[in-house]
Amino acid sequence: MRVLVNGAAGKMGIEVCKAVHQASDLHLAGGVDPSGRQLLTGIKTFSSLQEALDSEKVDVVVDFTTPAALGPSMEICLAHNVPMVVGTTGLTQAELKEWQARALQENWQAIIAPNFAIGAVLMMKYAREAVPFFEQAEIIEYHHAHKLDAPSGTALRTRKLMEEVHDKEIPIHSVRLPGLVAHQEVILGLPGQTLTIRHDSSDRTSFMPGVLLAIRRVKQIKGVVIGLEHILFTDI
Ligand code: NAD
Repeated sequence: MRVLVNGAAGKMGIEVCKAVHQASDLHLAGGVDPSGRQLLTGIKTFSSLQEALDSEKVDVVVDFTTPAALGPSMEICLAHNVPMVVGTTGLTQAELKEWQARALQENWQAIIAPNFAIGAVLMMKYAREAVPFFEQAEIIEYHHAHKLDAPSGTALRTRKLMEEVHDKEIPIHSVRLPGLVAHQEVILGLPGQTLTIRHDSSDRTSFMPGVLLAIRRVKQIKGVVIGLEHILFTDI
């Protein structure tokens, strides 16, 4: 499979380029980044996604860019009928729903996951399982100081999954500090006791097995799948 990385000079993009380059069944077709920053040595470099897709044969685009760049990039991939694996966060629930409907109509595929780390997916699953047993719950998410969106996509997704089985509002607290990567605690409370479910990504390599799995699976799905759990825990 020929993979193009959008946002290839970013913190996540650099890791994705390395992981795809090292995977024997995948070929890194190139990297897109308008920043002019140096990409991994030897990668074909493009300054726009449109230009890359017009000139290269690509099977999957992986997107780790910015909330503002994501919508236009999805439009370009849809127009070229190239499936996407999206890690960029910041799409609203309404936008996600709209993309799900359009993808089905236009026979296009994308896997959009707010968190590709297996531990974070399990944290969300366990929080959803636990919350019916507790009166109240709160989420604290901690990220590096350069993160553009708050609350994080992971925290919003965790809250959505928990609120499907719990009728009280679940507040989210966002911490942004140098020294952090991506961390989250879900604290559940009852009189006399609390349960804390915590996940830490201390290195961006934590996301790579999930990203590679999504790349290998995206052509087998129908429409837009939201959340890595749908491809981790079910055969498609
Ligand atoms: P970053 O700022 O380091 O990188 C973003 C890159 O996108 C930059 O190099 C920038 O130049 C590039 N870019 C901006 N506009 C572009 C465009 N129009 N076309 C192509 N490239 C463009 O950010 P990061 O830390 O790598 O995070 C990227 C995104 O991934 C964020 O939304 C973040 O929340 C998300 N993220 C998701 C996961 C996950 O598991 N899903 C994990 C970590 C981060």
